[in-house]
This record gives sequence, structure tokens and C-alpha cells, in this order.
Amino acid sequence: MSRILEGMGASAGRALGPVRRIDWDIPLVPHRTIRPEEVDGEVERFGEARARALEFVSRLQEETSRRIGSFEGKVFESQAMMIEDPELIEGTLSYVRDNFVCAERAFDWQVLEMRIRIQESAHAMLVDRLADLHDVRVRVLSHLLGRSDPSDLVTEAEEPSILVGSELPPSIAARLDPQRVLGVVLSGGSRGAHGVILARALGIPVVVAAGAAIQAIEESDRLLVDGRTGEIRVNPSSQEVEGYHRAVAQASHRRERLQSLAGRPTETSDGVHTVVQANLDLPHEAADAVRLGADGVGLFRSEFLVIGRREIPGEEDQLQAYRAVLEAFPEREVTLRTFDIGGDKFPLFLSLPPEDNPYLGWRAIRICLDMPELFDNQLRAAVRAVGENGNLRLLIPFVSTVEEMRRTRESLAAVYGSLGLTDSGIRIPVGVMVETPAAVEILDLLAPYVDFVSLGTNDLTQYVLAADRGNAKLGKLYDPLHPALLRMYKRVVKESARHELDLSVCGELAGDPVGVAALLGLGYRKFSVSIVSLPEIRELIRNVSVKELRRVMRKLDRAESGDEVRRSVHAHLSDRGVLSEPAPVGLSKD
Ligand code: PEP
Ligand code: MG
Repeated sequence: MSRILEGMGASAGRALGPVRRIDWDIPLVPHRTIRPEEVDGEVERFGEARARALEFVSRLQEETSRRIGSFEGKVFESQAMMIEDPELIEGTLSYVRDNFVCAERAFDWQVLEMRIRIQESAHAMLVDRLADLHDVRVRVLSHLLGRSDPSDLVTEAEEPSILVGSELPPSIAARLDPQRVLGVVLSGGSRGAHGVILARALGIPVVVAAGAAIQAIEESDRLLVDGRTGEIRVNPSSQEVEGYHRAVAQASHRRERLQSLAGRPTETSDGVHTVVQANLDLPHEAADAVRLGADGVGLFRSEFLVIGRREIPGEEDQLQAYRAVLEAFPEREVTLRTFDIGGDKFPLFLSLPPEDNPYLGWRAIRICLDMPELFDNQLRAAVRAVGENGNLRLLIPFVSTVEEMRRTRESLAAVYGSLGLTDSGIRIPVGVMVETPAAVEILDLLAPYVDFVSLGTNDLTQYVLAADRGNAKLGKLYDPLHPALLRMYKRVVKESARHELDLSVCGELAGDPVGVAALLGLGYRKFSVSIVSLPEIRELIRNVSVKELRRVMRKLDRAESGDEVRRSVHAHLSDRGVLSEPAPVGLSKD
């Protein structure tokens, strides 16, 4: 019998393989006191170690930019800034000078102080900085202690394996070889941590926040990991392994079939036309989305431009990123979501407000409207990226008032003016993300200010059910098929039709076969899903009948729980022979 552990899915895809532990130890730091005449030598040693660490980090930035993409390379900028942080340097030097301790001891004390300060601020985003600090700490200490760079350890792995550890330092993530690293399981970490962003860009499945239970995983164990659901099976049974291999075979069949169908519309078995678009986290993902036949981009998250940055991203940087995606989809629409920061994603250029409830706090459009210097840059880059024939749409997250949409329109109008486009006829469609209960309730009032609607089931679920989407303990309660949500989804279909607004779904529910079937039955026809779910969802849609699903959903009008809904829709799909094994996604990991 396999043991099942639960974490949070942070990079979709499934993997099966042996374990390799990456407990990236902090080297033992000797407490060595020095004589006053040795101070200068220690100061010099520290300077050298910093210089070498800095050189290493900029080499990694270069390597990563070449191998993955320039935006991914910028992840290392925040580490370079840490190495050059005046407080870190001065603090270390004063321990050397005042306490007469060796450079490694002084540096480690100073890092510990910084670490405590970051932890005390108790802001979720800072979890991401801790992994960077850990990376910097180990690297500088290794140089001071004359050890080889620890990131070489992982690149030397022989057998393809699943890495298990507490964090994934960016310097390790950037050098991972997806052929040899099948997956990553972390006791801590978050979706937004730099190392996790890099692993995602490399197509490696990752589970984060799996907790202390993973300490019991040993190198002799085998794991079956699902980077979408966050499930970890330790020593899977032969049946589970067979199921996995079957799914791998099915997925590769499906890929071949879909490749021959790419460019063909996704229609249901009863001829209803649907649109299946891609959710992108990073610009380079556009190429895969095109290859898998996405009908454009329904959600291009722009946070990669700001997370971990000390400065507001420049207009030119943004222009380049937006153009890259528009160029990948010359004939299709690309929906750029304006910065959804706040919550657990705070860039370094924002002074951190101490918030008790960051998800109910200063977030997304609230921040953008308060910071025109941030928002205007993004709007200007978006308008310029459209150029002659780009088909860009702007999606506004976390809207809860009409005022927010009205002010967004005003900001955009001012940008047209500043670019001399007032009379040019260029008008970017603007949409509202329906992800707060308020937006559902006032959709009719928002309608005059918007051209389209995108349903964000991830946040809507957490706000309607008062259940934190990131809290593994609430996994059962956090259910996007809860009857309260189904009622809201229906109202959104009705209101959008009444006001002739284009409607799509970009939350994870659209990437879940049962979810997309339920949504089809409720009247949704346009979906935006993560790249790894594209083949499975397109295939599912081709094999279901809207007429039948409508009937199934009507019968569930008085369903008492999300479970009941899920079971019924699942049973319908199984009866039709539509549901396959959950597909392993990402690179094939057999
Ligand atoms: C959502 O909330 O449903 C959504 C798609 O946005 P995100 O997951 O980026 O919050
Ligand atoms: Mg959201």
C-alpha cells in the first residue's frame, strides 16, 4: 500500500521515479576569533567571497537567460542585490571589526538577523525572499570555507530522479536538466518562489508546502507525484504504477492526435463550437501553447515582470514581453491581465504594509489605481504592443466596485491621449475578471464599462466559501463546484448574455475535465486553461454533447454539495467512456 502525502501543486505534470534528497545544508560555520591585526585580512576575504558569489550569480543569470528566457534570468537580480546589500555588508564588517570574529561567523550572524527580520514581518511574499537569502548564504559561506559550489551537486546526479527537500534554491533550479530531474517535492516553498518559477518554466512538475511529513521520505523510496493536485504517493503500488504508465501512453497518443488536429476548431460531439485558449505565466510558454493548438491566450499573467524586483518594470521591458506573445499568436486574441500583485505576491519596490488578511487587502487593481507610476507604464506598454494589428485585450483582476472599472477606463483614455492616439481608432477591449462575489452581484452595473468578462474560479471560490485557496487543511471545503458557486456561474452566463459581453473562464476549474463538462452544461463556451491541460481539455470537449451535459446539470440544480455534483458529472463522463486516467502532463516522464 502506498502512503499518500499532500502538498500544493505548483507546476503541473506527473512524475514517477526514485528519490534524491536535496537538503542543501548550511555549512558548519566555525566560531573562530581573530586577533586585531587579522581584521584587514578577514575584511578582504569577505570582499573576495562576495565578489565570487556575485560573479557566479551573474553567470547564472546569463546562462538562465540563454537557456530559459531573459525574464527568467532576471530572477537572479534579487540575489545580486542581496549580495550587495549595504546592511548585509556593513553588519558583517562591524562584527568582524568590533567582535573580532572570522568573516564566515560574522556573515552568518548577519544573515541570521536578516532572516529573523524577514520572518517576523510574517508576509507571505517574503517566503520567496527567504529561499533567495538561503541561496546567497550557502554560496558566500561555501566560498569563505573553500568548499565547491553546492549547486554542482544536483547537476552531477546520475539517475533520473525526483528531488525532495525543504526549498528549491533558484541557483539549483536554473541548472536542472528536465531529462534527469523528473519532479520536485518541497516541504516549504510557494508557487511564487523564484526556484519554483524556474522549474515551472523548465516543465518540471513541482509540489510545494508538503510539510514536515516529507522528512520521512528516504532515498530508497519511489514517488509518484502529481504537480497539479499536489498529491505525493510514496512507494506506489504496482497497480498505481501501471495506471501511470497507461496514462503516459494515452497522453502521448493524445499529443500525436492533437498535433494532427492543431488549427482545427474544438467542437463538441453535437457540433457546438468552443474556444480553448491558454493561460500563460511566462512569455516563452506561448510557443508551447501554439504547438498545442490554443485558440489564443485567455490569461497572460504579468506578475513575472514585477515579482522580486526592486524597481517598477520599465515600459520597454514590458513592451518586449507583450510583443513576444502577440507575435506568437498573430491571428488570435491575447488577454493580458494587469498586475495582480498583493495577496502573497509583493514586489520589493512596494513598501510592505503589515496586513492581517493580505488576500482581503491591498491587491491587484487597488494597488494599480493607487500607483499610477506603476499602472501607466503597463497600460502604455500594452497600447504600444498592439501596434498595427495586434489583437490584445486587457483584463482587470480583483474588481469589486464600478469605480475601479471607471477609473481604469480613465487611465487608459489618458494613455491614448499621451500617445497621441485619441482619434486613431485604436481601442483595446477591456474586461473584468469576475473573481469577487461583488463582481458577480454587480455585473449589470459593470457592463457599460467592460467589453468582456472572464470568470476567475480560483479566487471566486476562496472568497465565496471563505476558504483560503492555499490552505491545504481546507482542501475539502475549497470546492469550485460547491452549489453556491454553481449558482453564481449560472448568473454570470445570464448577465453576460443579456449585456452581450464575451464570456470566458480562466480559473483552474476550466482545466479540470469534470469542471469543464459542468461549465459546458451551464452555458460556457470559452475556456482558458494552463498549457499542460490543453490537450486533455480539447479532447474531452470533442467527446461530449452539450445537450446531454445541459440535462445533467439541470438535474443537479438542487445538489447539496460539490461532491454530489462532481460524482454525477464524473459518472456521466465515465458512462460515455470519455474519462481517461488523469493524464500525466508536461514533458513525458516515463
Ligand atoms: C482566478 O482567480 O481564478 C485566476 C485565474 O487568477 P489567479 O489564479 O492568477 O489568481
Ligand atoms: Mg485570481
